[in-house]
Amino acid sequence: MSHIEIDEQRCKACYLCIDECPKKLIKVGEKVNKLGAKPVEFCDPKGECLGCAMCATRCPDMAITKVFRG
Ligand code: SF4
Ligand code: SF4
Repeated sequence: MSHIEIDEQRCKACYLCIDECPKKLIKVGEKVNKLGAKPVEFCDPKGECLGCAMCATRCPDMAITKVFRG
């Protein structure tokens, strides 16, 4: 099963990655980070992540730090 890691302190909440994910596995979280933004969270209860890295490639702030392909 693939998954990603998000550096929530780097995320500026532009939400470009939400639209980019073909499986819609990224959502707006509830927490507020040091930038005053609500960072995104990875939510994949069914294990659907493809490990395609489209989210990480799209992020202008390199906040999606790792993509594990499984
Ligand atoms: S693209 Fe990057 S900065 Fe924008 S919401 Fe997603 S993780 Fe955060
Ligand atoms: S690696 Fe692909 S499927 Fe997984 S969260 Fe990112 S865009 Fe979505």
